[in-house]
Amino acid sequence: MWLPKLRELKEAVTAVFSPRFTTRFPAEPIEVPEKFRGKPEFDTDTCIGCGACVNTCPSSVCLQMEDDLDAEPPVRRITLNYYTCIFCGNCEQNCATADTGASIKLSKIWDLATLDRFSEVETHEFELQLCEKCGAVVGTKKHLLWLYEKLGPLAYTNPALLIAKGGELAAGREEIAQPAKTEAPAQTRDFMRILCPKCKCELNIKL
Ligand code: SF4
Ligand code: SF4
Repeated sequence: MWLPKLRELKEAVTAVFSPRFTTRFPAEPIEVPEKFRGKPEFDTDTCIGCGACVNTCPSSVCLQMEDDLDAEPPVRRITLNYYTCIFCGNCEQNCATADTGASIKLSKIWDLATLDRFSEVETHEFELQLCEKCGAVVGTKKHLLWLYEKLGPLAYTNPALLIAKGGELAAGREEIAQPAKTEAPAQTRDFMRILCPKCKCELNIKL
């Protein structure tokens, strides 16, 4: 009868003088492995607001994108809801700027516990470029500038990119540009506008 008690006592005394197997978190920080996948973080300097990460996110609510055409100026909002992230890494892997360093990266931050999970949200805004003929969304202005830089000399085949960059074709554009959302028939000077794919296609067919 006493033997089990004595064995338990021996185990307890041994445990007291043995090295600890648990960590001292939160008193001491925890080192995570090199390839650890923690909270996704945006680099707002390099992010172009293209939305590729939103399209590849397997969660329907973790990364969300909304184009607000009523804002002045119109903006695209990309929202990250950490509390629904499954840390799969698709966003980082499929980021448009991945070849020069992804603009969204899974960090080593893992301690995301909170009393209000709905506070685990961040939103980033990007100014939109609208079609200068019909008012449809072409993309973010940052995206057009990124394409200009990416294409190099090839960008000179696309007047919209030159206009977006403020290049030589942009000179005197105030005179030829018409207010957005006009229903005027296609004209040659429309080639000097930033157009959505639909208007660009119509223009190329009609003229
Ligand atoms: S890690 Fe996965 S779930 Fe989390 S934001 Fe990126 S794509 Fe979405
Ligand atoms: S794919 Fe990359 S560049 Fe595009 S919106 Fe997402 S983080 Fe930004």
